Amino acid sequence: MTERSTVETPRVGVLTPAGRGAIAVVAVRGADSVRVVDRCFRAASGKSLAETPSGRVAFGRWGDADGEEVVVTRSEDSVEVHCHGGAAASRAIVESLKSVGCQVVEQQEWLAETTAGSIEAAAHRALAQVVTEREALVLLDQINGALRKDLEQALELIDSGQLEEAKDRMFTLINRWHGCNPFLHPTQVYVMGAPNVGKSSLINTLVGFERSIVFDVPGTTRDLVTTTTAIDGWKVELIDTAGLRRGADSIEQRGIDIIFDSIHRAKLVLHVAEARTWLEGKPSSKVFFSRLKGIPMIKVASKIDLLNPSEIQKLEKRAGDKFFLTSIVRRQGIDELLEGIGAIMNPPALPAGTAVLFNKEQSDRVTEAWLAPSAAVSKHALQALLAE
Ligand code: GDP
Repeated sequence: MTERSTVETPRVGVLTPAGRGAIAVVAVRGADSVRVVDRCFRAASGKSLAETPSGRVAFGRWGDADGEEVVVTRSEDSVEVHCHGGAAASRAIVESLKSVGCQVVEQQEWLAETTAGSIEAAAHRALAQVVTEREALVLLDQINGALRKDLEQALELIDSGQLEEAKDRMFTLINRWHGCNPFLHPTQVYVMGAPNVGKSSLINTLVGFERSIVFDVPGTTRDLVTTTTAIDGWKVELIDTAGLRRGADSIEQRGIDIIFDSIHRAKLVLHVAEARTWLEGKPSSKVFFSRLKGIPMIKVASKIDLLNPSEIQKLEKRAGDKFFLTSIVRRQGIDELLEGIGAIMNPPALPAGTAVLFNKEQSDRVTEAWLAPSAAVSKHALQALLAE
């Protein structure tokens, strides 16, 4: 048998998710990886990759002198090629490696092979979709095995005859999933109030960019417009409602109906009225707001730049009322309002390393195990989740 025939075919795959970053990473694994990459890579130093020490970074071009600029790192049996993030660049690199003998591995398969298990691979994939750092930290804990460990411990408890203790663990996981799951259910915050009180302007400022054109005509914002942002590190949907107005025209009335169809999902309502209106004690739509029982509400007094200092003081001191005073024109009160929203959302604290279910299939499996009529069925459901 020749030495060559014992060498496994090198495998190539793209590690980074499509279209999200400025840089894409193509990985080559297998004892022959340095040799195959050397057939395509031209280092600026003129040295081959085989001559480049393991762990050292090499800069150069892919293919010929006009090829894509790339940065390459190698170890004994693997190479990573870092190129521009667009799909075309990584695809071209994968194709050329295929033409020199590499086997192409799809990203999903690659993750399943290179991570400890399917849960960790799924966490890797979910990580590519997150929008906040807090979510990313939760997923990194799962990539590092937090969920797997928890499930394995539940299985050990079942094996040692402690089914109730195992079910307590499962219940904690399910509860956490429903209570704080930032992946499926972003917190919904409805921004409500009469037309022209400054709802759209406020949302734009909270989100930090000009999402919609703001017109100075009552009833401009007719439908529900949802903007996703992050507040206090959690995903939040700010929902801009149609203006509330007595004698609303039929289109606005439709908007109001839409609100009532969906408002039960709200975690919080921002009731916006102009500061002067609050001062005069006559914010509109009392009847409307009385229908939002049980949903926490923050009172926002907008356009405080239109009040004089003594009027502002009066509003601040009004007994029994806590207002968040804002002015978009002067950019006042926005940080305080963000803090107020964050405090009400109050997502449960997740200490580092906490096991968290992060997709519905997992939640269904654990619920199945928790509801199982016997230890054997419960065990089977957990094992299936670990093996999936
Ligand atoms: P919406 O109908 O409640 O969404 O109100 P908009 O956000 O469309 O604002 C209505 C008008 O009020 C626009 O002309 C805004 O420029 C103006 N406006 C919004 N916020 C403020 C503010 O803090 N101060 C002042 N003076 N005008 C504002």
